[in-house]
Amino acid sequence: MRTQYTFVDPTTLYADISTRPDDQTEPGLDAELRDRADLGEETYVGTGRLKGRKALVTGGDSGIGAATVIAFAREGADVALAYLPPEQVDAERVAAIAREAGVVVALLPGDLSVHAEAVALVDDAVAQLGGLDILVNNAGKQIYNEDLTTLPDEQFDDTFKVNVYAMFWITKAALGHLPPGSTIINTTSVQAYSPSDILVDYASTKATINAFTKALAQQVGPKGIRVNAVAPGPVWTPLQVTDGQPSDAIGEFGQSTPLGRAGQPAELAPAYVFLASAESSYVSGETLNVNGGMPTP
Ligand code: NAD
Ligand code: MG
Repeated sequence: MRTQYTFVDPTTLYADISTRPDDQTEPGLDAELRDRADLGEETYVGTGRLKGRKALVTGGDSGIGAATVIAFAREGADVALAYLPPEQVDAERVAAIAREAGVVVALLPGDLSVHAEAVALVDDAVAQLGGLDILVNNAGKQIYNEDLTTLPDEQFDDTFKVNVYAMFWITKAALGHLPPGSTIINTTSVQAYSPSDILVDYASTKATINAFTKALAQQVGPKGIRVNAVAPGPVWTPLQVTDGQPSDAIGEFGQSTPLGRAGQPAELAPAYVFLASAESSYVSGETLNVNGGMPTP
């Protein structure tokens, strides 16, 4: 059976998963992707890298967050996963898989674009896990728009609320709970460096997340808290089929990368594990690109 350690040709890995045109209503479900994404359910093997740790993962129901939850649990961490109420079915599936690892998994539905709900999330996670030492800010919103003059003010606002404000509110609320050794991991994007013409608002939030990460890493480094970011390239998740891209572009999604294909959420999880674990003890303020080989600064 293949694991994340199996020697493979990365260009042909996942040749069995196509990214056919697909369309769902926001926030979308992994359960309803026509071509199911790989969250590492069958492949991720843990080796105790996060034993005894306590993690909060936003957007942990699907996609990159869900693969991270499964990996964290198999590495021995208790996990609280945050998601939107309509994603209950995805959240329950991921929680059930994660619990098979024998760890505590807490389900915390809520809308993080609302300040009170974002802050309450941190208190709930601390209460249910008995503390917190890993924070993964991963929830995200991406809606394409071809002409700035038609980009609704409300969308611009919502994209910044979910991608930037929620990260700020949650991190601010979490800092008082994080002991030395804790790790914060934000989710940025290749869009921070190579913005698409149709993702002006989204790409702007992702550049902000990179700067936030590097600034905060300097501020809290003396307290023994490390702050890093993961920058995914094109990854097959519900985000893309809920107007993250025009539906006719989904068929070619990821094919222009040097590896010639879209990534799968399972391929992102090891980056989060590395940055969460003490093995990255001298890494802070870094952005780890996992993007199929696209050049970055
Ligand atoms: P996804 O749809 O599986 O995950 C995004 C999650 O964000 C959703 O599951 C949802 O729970 C959460 N979310 C959205 N709005 C929310 C709100 N108002 N309140 C609470 N939660 C909310 O898609 P994904 O691709 O796994 O996205 C995870 C992260 O990865 C995002 O930050 C995204 O910007 C980033 N990213 C994705 C790609 C890609 O190609 N898929 C590329 C670069 C970066
Ligand atoms: Mg989801």
